[in-house]
Amino acid sequence: ATSTPASPAPAPPASPGPLAVLADAGLEVPVLGGGFVRHVNLDVAASAPALVAVTAHVARVLPYYSSVHRGAGYPSQLSTSLVEEARGTVARHVGARDDDLVVFTRNTTDALNLLANAVPGDTVVLDLEHHANLLPWRADARRVVVARRTIAETLDALDAELARCPAALLTVTGASNVTGEVLPIARLAELAHARGARLAIDAAQLLPHRRVDIAASGVDYLAFSGHKAYAPFGTGALVGRADWLDAAPAYLAGGGAVAAVRVDGADWKRGADRHEAGTPNVIGIAALARALTELERLGEAARARHERALTERLHAGLAAQRGIRVIRGFDDADDRLGIATIELERGSVGRLAAALAAEHGISVRAGRFCAHPFFDRVATRANGLRASLGAGTSADDVDRFLAALATLIADGP
Ligand code: PLP
Repeated sequence: ATSTPASPAPAPPASPGPLAVLADAGLEVPVLGGGFVRHVNLDVAASAPALVAVTAHVARVLPYYSSVHRGAGYPSQLSTSLVEEARGTVARHVGARDDDLVVFTRNTTDALNLLANAVPGDTVVLDLEHHANLLPWRADARRVVVARRTIAETLDALDAELARCPAALLTVTGASNVTGEVLPIARLAELAHARGARLAIDAAQLLPHRRVDIAASGVDYLAFSGHKAYAPFGTGALVGRADWLDAAPAYLAGGGAVAAVRVDGADWKRGADRHEAGTPNVIGIAALARALTELERLGEAARARHERALTERLHAGLAAQRGIRVIRGFDDADDRLGIATIELERGSVGRLAAALAAEHGISVRAGRFCAHPFFDRVATRANGLRASLGAGTSADDVDRFLAALATLIADGP
């Protein structure tokens, strides 16, 4: 009998274009010497421009915003349902358990500060974190573990620290904002739980680029920002176990967080309301939810495939470039987001970043990326230059960056 061979999977295009249309597509920027060029945005890890589906949604709902929860009129009911439906969208998108809370915050920093108020014990954290996942934890209850050269050794070091002395929480980034290296969150959850701790994941970088399922991976708390997930500024969320959050003092004191108020005290609500006093960012929250549903429509596999192809192209180009060194945290990371941070053997990355913008219309970032302890440990120079990409990036963007980098480095510092 003959068997029909399975049809081969379609090969990814050699030069992928953008996967999705972003609001900044087609922006032209002035360059030195006169004229305009198409802007290349390789600073997506800092803030990702909105998806056009998001800007369209914002334009549709913006005229009707009103106060939530208490107003009787139609706009108020609409705003209330936008916020509450968004809460459901966030919960579904991250695979929350039925009894998890979704608390809307201003961003990841805000979400982690909120969680820090609620942790009933010590917090163990890696030194490779963004400052947002280092500084909020109470200094007298924060134990920082220096990451090792491999993820496997780092997991052992975390395990040893949790075994040495119990902690309430282990908190780790889902992906480094300096190297893009992705950490194994399900293994971290297993490790934390085996030592009686809970796991929080700073998903500021991870969530916009990889699907996260907190119930399936055992994550207890997840924090992320809307502005890195193709929605505008001013929103984020903390998702996770209700008990610590219900037992913690209200993050913000004020209207909406209380069931009853007397002159000598108040009965604080439980649930998300407890930590969401004041009027919420209705439009921002609606935009965040729309961004997440659009990311779902694009599909996890397609997004990861698109970004992996461009990430490989970026790293291959950088590996061939003389006069630079790519910063790595681990020797055994098997997945990384579209982020590459380089150091220069000679010259200033600040001047290089400025020249990329002024002469070539390319946006990147220079500095230490709010990860000073990590950067100071792994880098040999004071500052690095980071290029980061996402759903709106094309192969042409990456190629223009690599060509401009080569020209500027050849021209000297
Ligand atoms: N965590 C990581 C890994 C980040 O990359 C960032 C921002 O760059 C943050 C936290 C803080 O995010 P936000 O400024 O939105 O609070």
